[in-house]
Amino acid sequence: MAVLRVALDLPLHRLFDYVAVAASTADIGLRVRVPFGRSEKIGVIVDVVETSDWPLEQLKAAGEILRDLAPLPADFLRLCEFASAYYQAAFGEVVLQALPVGLKRTVSPVRRAARAVRRAEVIAPPDLTTAQAVAVEAVDPAGGFSAHLLHGVTGSGKTEVYLRLVERTLAAGKQVLLLVPEINLTPQLEGRVRARFPDEGIVSLHSELAEAARERNWRAAFAGEASIVLGTRLAIFTPMPNLGLIVIDEEHDSSFKQQDGMRYSARDVGVFRARQLGIPILLGSATPSLESWANAQSGRYGLINLRERANPLATLPAVHMLDTRRMVLKEGVSDPLIAAIKLRLERGEQSLIFLNRRGYAPVLACMACGWVSRCTRCAANMVLHLADRRLRCHHCGLEHRVPKACPTCGNQDILPFGRGTQRLEGWIQEQFPEARVLRVDRDSVKSRKQWEVMLDRIHGGEADILVGTQMLAKGHDFPKLTLVGVLGADSALFAADWRAPERLFAQLMQVAGRAGRAELKGEVLIQTQYPDHPLYGALVAHDYPGFAVSLLKEREQAGFPPYAFQAMLRAEAPDMADSIAFLKTAAILPVVPEHENVMIYDPVPMKLSRLANLERGQLLAESHSRPALQAFLPRWREAIERIKAPSKLRWHIEVDPLEF
Ligand SMILES: [Zn+2]
Ligand SMILES: [Zn+2]
Repeated sequence: MAVLRVALDLPLHRLFDYVAVAASTADIGLRVRVPFGRSEKIGVIVDVVETSDWPLEQLKAAGEILRDLAPLPADFLRLCEFASAYYQAAFGEVVLQALPVGLKRTVSPVRRAARAVRRAEVIAPPDLTTAQAVAVEAVDPAGGFSAHLLHGVTGSGKTEVYLRLVERTLAAGKQVLLLVPEINLTPQLEGRVRARFPDEGIVSLHSELAEAARERNWRAAFAGEASIVLGTRLAIFTPMPNLGLIVIDEEHDSSFKQQDGMRYSARDVGVFRARQLGIPILLGSATPSLESWANAQSGRYGLINLRERANPLATLPAVHMLDTRRMVLKEGVSDPLIAAIKLRLERGEQSLIFLNRRGYAPVLACMACGWVSRCTRCAANMVLHLADRRLRCHHCGLEHRVPKACPTCGNQDILPFGRGTQRLEGWIQEQFPEARVLRVDRDSVKSRKQWEVMLDRIHGGEADILVGTQMLAKGHDFPKLTLVGVLGADSALFAADWRAPERLFAQLMQVAGRAGRAELKGEVLIQTQYPDHPLYGALVAHDYPGFAVSLLKEREQAGFPPYAFQAMLRAEAPDMADSIAFLKTAAILPVVPEHENVMIYDPVPMKLSRLANLERGQLLAESHSRPALQAFLPRWREAIERIKAPSKLRWHIEVDPLEF
């Protein structure tokens, strides 16, 4: 008789004990069927012991121990333990969220043979620049744990550095985990990896994969058959028996942060995992997160710089400000920008107009009575999409037809206010009737297939003017693109969110990096009312380090991360009063005064206070010591769990929150 300690996919911070007739510690890491309530669940055996805190006769008997999959390794369970403790997430949820759906079903799925590795066209590696060669040498795949920040300007050839390190790691018989922000936006990278390593097992792991494919790929990684795993944030938890290198491309990208369920940062989990396994991790970006930059400055991470573009003929684009205070704008566009587009058309080159707001206009309004198209479920406006005549909430997804008249007063003259990419596209087309204008945003590109078609069209020279959002900013080479015009950037300069300037700078550096990547010289024109703002000055000088230094100084003076450590308690309920009352109770729990190094702020409504009919509030806990915060959080969470809250209230803790 043995007791199985089982992790189940439940939001509870405990394991569940079951008795088994025959089981041993060799079964740790195997899946097991267990009765739960009136149904059955699949759990993971975390320990096999002889006694339980419960009387043995009260324990239920475990069902079948599943042996179709090798046991999940100890290092995987330890990684889940770390994530559970660090992010205050239930251990069972962490373990089971990392498994493909098919492995959690109580009805066994039919196994299919792993897909044959797709052959790609083989491409010989290019010669390394001196800087790239130095970068490759800086990372020793056999030298134990090391963390490196690879800071390279756009077009400096970071990918080639990754590929060389992948090559060295594979040569040593190890596996590589390569994380990218959004697999949809990076088909070029996947293509390059396949072309470079045509004989290796390469699998991708991301949420857009069909369930069966995801399970196949996961099994291949777990069995060690796939030597390269290309994935998005969740892939950081993939158990891999021979992992030898982790690469995180565009490490600053916010999509590495999971915003619901277990709120974790794949980048930070990656650094822990590399340390745990004693292997190197490489974080790459043209605009590193300030956290990573500070770690590189303090020596916790090694810093590797690529200051020049890999193609010696491709220089960095010239960045200029267009001071719109002295200009008449037509539909938000200035004459010099129009003239610059015209020049590109005459030369047969491409232009990109960047406006990070999709839809036709951010709001529809009635001048007669003041009605505006507000979302009935959120504290936000419904965005006008004229292409399919819909009003759409970009927060909760609610949508309906555009009304023919004002719903309040019947006035038929309701007008769109402000502008989004659709409106800009239409207007640009009117100005240049001969030009082929292509809009690229999440409305025009909804799937990976559509994105690949769109990229082919751009590369094939089928577009003269691109109008798009930040979708266009990520890692693509458009050789004929020589002009980038930026509209509407100022709003982020003075946003309430203190991280907004960091994000704006990264976005503009990336989008600017699209211009002039081949032999043609690129130009970036930014329309602004604040041409002297230091953020723009740093862009003109292509000076990320200078910008980072000044921003870090501001953060240090203000006591913001990375000089403070934060956790956010959020509550949502149909009534704001309930949310705030709950948070107020949490703020004065007895455990709070016991931790004098942790500061608790006052509860406040969130910036988007109402989302999908729920009123949301938050409470910030902060400390200047990471250990102090980490010691406080589990005790605080346990105390919060005992608060009697209204039944419709939901709450969670987010550690290292990115958004406020
Ligand atoms: Zn009206
Ligand atoms: Zn909404």
